Amino acid sequence: MKEAFDRKEAVSMRENIPSLRIAAEDWSPAHVLQWAFQTFGDSVALSSAFGAEGMVLIDIASRVQESFRIFTLDTEFLFPETYNLIDQVEQRYGITIERVFPLLSPEEQEHALGPALWRRDPDQCCNIRKVEPLRRKLGELQAWITSIRRDQTAARAGAGKIEWDDKFGLVKINPLVDWSSKEVWQYIREHDIPYNALHDRSYPSIGCTHCTRAVRPGESPRAGRWAGYSKTECGLHVIEPATEAQG
Ligand code: SF4
Repeated sequence: MKEAFDRKEAVSMRENIPSLRIAAEDWSPAHVLQWAFQTFGDSVALSSAFGAEGMVLIDIASRVQESFRIFTLDTEFLFPETYNLIDQVEQRYGITIERVFPLLSPEEQEHALGPALWRRDPDQCCNIRKVEPLRRKLGELQAWITSIRRDQTAARAGAGKIEWDDKFGLVKINPLVDWSSKEVWQYIREHDIPYNALHDRSYPSIGCTHCTRAVRPGESPRAGRWAGYSKTECGLHVIEPATEAQG
């Protein structure tokens, strides 16, 4: 596997992103992943919360390369069904998932900031339990791979398959960005891929127990996330203002 490339290479990679972004638009997810693994070796990792798209990406990655790095942000507030799925993924694909924890345990957070922070200030809670741990993990990497799709939220609509992530300062790779939800589920059924049992109970998008509910008929797939708040993103995929390369 290729060693992590040096700083000079990273700068030249950043300069090449606009042309790579255009070229990659026609690449299949497998092609994008192959390019990512060959280019970055151990310095690229797949980030997954094990949603339907994440499961598809893990399956495709396992066909491209036997072993690859994958991490998950364990907020310690995930559903039992999600923890079960993590165990299943490790067994089925023979991989070890790197679990990234917040610096504060749930008890320490409550002690420092009071009870149920997610209700009073979900942005601060997400910063502590998701954004800071992600920033810490990405500090080890030259590139990260996500399973976002353009039609999931307005913030994701302009995402490229390969882009520069100004927020975290590395290459961001989104192989499934032009897939529809229908294509994702078709792939899951065709390849008999395990998925989170909550999807069959009207949870199309799954995060922490405190901030995820089932959606009602006619609601948007992400209506069950931070219901009652204008918040639609945890801050991991939000485009910074004046961030042209990323958007
Ligand atoms: S999704 Fe909710 S519980 Fe999870 S980190 Fe964000 S605010 Fe906290």
